[in-house]
Amino acid sequence: MASTQSCKINIPGMFLDEGVLLNEEAYAKFLEDAANEDIILEFMTHLKKNNIFIVTKDVYEDYFYPRIESGQQKESVEQRAELPDEVPKSEKKRKSIKVKHIPSKDVDKDIKIIKDVSGKDDSEGKFEDFLSLFKDRYTRISKIFKQHRELRDFVSIKNAKANELKSQVKIVGIVRSKKTTKNGNVMLELEDLSGTIKVLVSTKKERLLERAKYIVCDEVIGVSGALGEDIIFSNNFEFPDIALGRNRNVSPYDIGAVFTSDVHVGSNNFMEKSFLRFIKWLRLETGNEKQQEIASKIKYIVICGDVVDGVGIYPNQDKELCITDIYKQYEKTAQLLSYLPDWIEVIVSPGNHDATRSGNPQIPIPKAFAYDLYDMDNIHMVSNPSFFSLHGVKCLAYHGDSIFDFLSQVPGFEINKPIPPMIEMLRKRHLAPVYGKGTQIIPETSDYLCIDETPDIFQTGHTHMNGNGVYRGVTLINSGGWQSQTSFQKMRNITPDVAKVPIINLQTHNLVLMNFGD
Ligand code: FE
Ligand code: ZN
Repeated sequence: MASTQSCKINIPGMFLDEGVLLNEEAYAKFLEDAANEDIILEFMTHLKKNNIFIVTKDVYEDYFYPRIESGQQKESVEQRAELPDEVPKSEKKRKSIKVKHIPSKDVDKDIKIIKDVSGKDDSEGKFEDFLSLFKDRYTRISKIFKQHRELRDFVSIKNAKANELKSQVKIVGIVRSKKTTKNGNVMLELEDLSGTIKVLVSTKKERLLERAKYIVCDEVIGVSGALGEDIIFSNNFEFPDIALGRNRNVSPYDIGAVFTSDVHVGSNNFMEKSFLRFIKWLRLETGNEKQQEIASKIKYIVICGDVVDGVGIYPNQDKELCITDIYKQYEKTAQLLSYLPDWIEVIVSPGNHDATRSGNPQIPIPKAFAYDLYDMDNIHMVSNPSFFSLHGVKCLAYHGDSIFDFLSQVPGFEINKPIPPMIEMLRKRHLAPVYGKGTQIIPETSDYLCIDETPDIFQTGHTHMNGNGVYRGVTLINSGGWQSQTSFQKMRNITPDVAKVPIINLQTHNLVLMNFGD
């Protein structure tokens, strides 16, 4: 909003001419933020549209400042004003800065990659690769069952079968198939490294049957029950799940991270103005003191996939693109991110729209496509999924392709509620268990989609819906996006959440949602 003309124009006069009363506090705001004529004229249009005749400080802030959705304040505002091309990267003294100091500037970055698929693009998709993938999945998740109170003494399927009929047995296996019988029982087939066995969940066990609706193919579960001929009559079954009573990690510093995704740069529907408002806020060029205090603590931005809209992702996509060249889409992304203040570090993980191999896991967007991003010191390119820590706080970022697998397989799950599928991933300790029906899985020798270690923060995107929650001490975020309703979404009656940004304080784990939308 900086301008040299602000003192030359007669601001109260401009309002008077339009029959609008400007109160003293609001006038002070115009001076403080150095508003120029164009901005005032645009503001005037907003007033007319909304039949506002008296401008108070609240009206001013409603229009010019971002909203805090889940904080104490609730303010509404419309987007305006682009950054000029030659925005300085330095944090030169700005009149707009209302906070006394910028905590995120005083803290050195602390990013540690714990598990990432970078540089491991060696899968040929052969049958043997799938065998070793499932072996690895079984080995990793059965290890989690060894810590289980109920099932830690499980035995191999072969050893279980060697017992006398009717004896109680405990096994852990991969679900090869799941069927509902004519009588309404659920029949599973489980497999481990030693063999296979059927498992029956009977209608007589109502609560167990209700829980069985969450069982999906190719996940690893533990079962206990009575042995029959090549079958276990299940008394109980368990998911590997997250252990209770875990201490979550906290940052020693009072700083925060933005968890966003689905920017879709290059799409006609990319809300560039909203995105620029977000950047201006991070630069401490807008916002009241309370809002700037939140901005001043932001040290990290995690972009969880679909950074660009891509090219040729679906038929006739070119009609919905304003940038039809993939290289230019990443150039534009780099330009936008270069406006960020230099104390902020950005972690970029790919999604299904990005220019890297499709299928999970995805290696980071290659340098060949995103040269400018690789050239920036504060940008860190990671894989999808990626497991890393920020000042000791463990974060798992996964774009979320498999959310749709859960929506189609678990009755009652809906697209506008992304948190229940995320909870299932944690319970199953796997990001995309279902193979061959939905999410394309690339068979690496090791299963990168297993959740071996419990994160403190688990982020997904992909649905373009905002959601947040807590499951057994893990903070869950689905980020929403920066793309207004596409024709595809309109056809399916999906209204996306746009330009709403979740922010987590890494010391307190408090979450605030800021709205930069219209
Ligand atoms: Fe997306
Ligand atoms: Zn996506």
